[in-house]
Amino acid sequence: MSDITDILSLTLDDLRAYIDSIGERPFRAVQIFRWLHQKRVCGIDDMSDLPLGLRERLKSDFDFVRIKPVRILKSESDGTVKLLYELCDGNHVETVLMRYEHGDSLCVSTQVGCRMGCRFCASTIAGFKRNLEPNEILGQLYETERATQRKISSIVLMGIGEPLDNFDNVVKFLRILSSHEGTDMSLRHVSLSTCGLVDRIYRLCELNLGLTLSISLHSPYDEKRSELMPINNRYHIPELMKACRDYFDKTGRRISFEYALIEGENDSYDDAKALVTLLRGMPAHINIIPVNKISERSYRSDRASAQRFCKLLCRLGANATVRRTLGADIDAACGQLRREYEGIN
Ligand code: SAH
Repeated sequence: MSDITDILSLTLDDLRAYIDSIGERPFRAVQIFRWLHQKRVCGIDDMSDLPLGLRERLKSDFDFVRIKPVRILKSESDGTVKLLYELCDGNHVETVLMRYEHGDSLCVSTQVGCRMGCRFCASTIAGFKRNLEPNEILGQLYETERATQRKISSIVLMGIGEPLDNFDNVVKFLRILSSHEGTDMSLRHVSLSTCGLVDRIYRLCELNLGLTLSISLHSPYDEKRSELMPINNRYHIPELMKACRDYFDKTGRRISFEYALIEGENDSYDDAKALVTLLRGMPAHINIIPVNKISERSYRSDRASAQRFCKLLCRLGANATVRRTLGADIDAACGQLRREYEGIN
């Protein structure tokens, strides 16, 4: 990666400050921003109403690099598309386009690899390589819309990486995405999933961006959660729950809890009862996912068990659903496509 900022990573305010610093007239900032994020040009020379001198200046001051889809897998059964993107330094990340009744949703990656070490997750096995820059997160949206000719109406930050471990770049991405002069996506249509970096949840809460927070919980017990998710050794469940309550009080946004069901680990009647007790009084939704198999671990589950556990939670008074299984015919747990392509072991 070069040290020069990619022009796609600039917020409108960044661009205004830059335009001011080179003595150009202020309206140029919005003009450039629209070319980038609305018309989505492929190069600075395509900004046809900019003076030649300014185009040359932009080319010498910024990079403008596009990420490339190197594999595209399409589901025959439900319209899911999995894309593997190559970044300019040769690293790869995964993006998944999912079709729902209310429109198409895109699951984007925020880091190359991950340092959180969750035991059941394929993205973390080969460790962490680097954070994605805002342009590389946005690029997943722009290039997927271009490659599939589909219009994406919502985004989930649930691909490879821990979004709150790449806080500043993720917030920049959100600001650019929601800018009226750009894609103009309401952040009500964005969900951010985190393993529970409590200090960052508070920072996010302060920004009051209006997005939906998804917490990867996976167990109501500290001991079991610490075994499955090392981050729980840093922030225990009571601390995490307090942050969630504060997030709801401040933003009014209901919180979503992810629960990857793993046979013999977190699927007992006691687990269900403890989970409902933990979330009682909090406007919450529990999303149950039968754990995806990864080759290094023997964790397993199936849809029928997930449905049974879900029914149990509902009977106990919780608001829970089983996540729809999408793209079963191109199935690969998150992070596996990249590993297979790069031959990471
Ligand atoms: N780091 C973030 C977002 C990426 S993971 C987080 O932890 O939330 C997205 C979701 O997939 C998380 O809920 C994660 O716990 C879950 N996940 C990871 N590996 C999985 C697997 N093998 N089976 C089911 N869910 C998994």
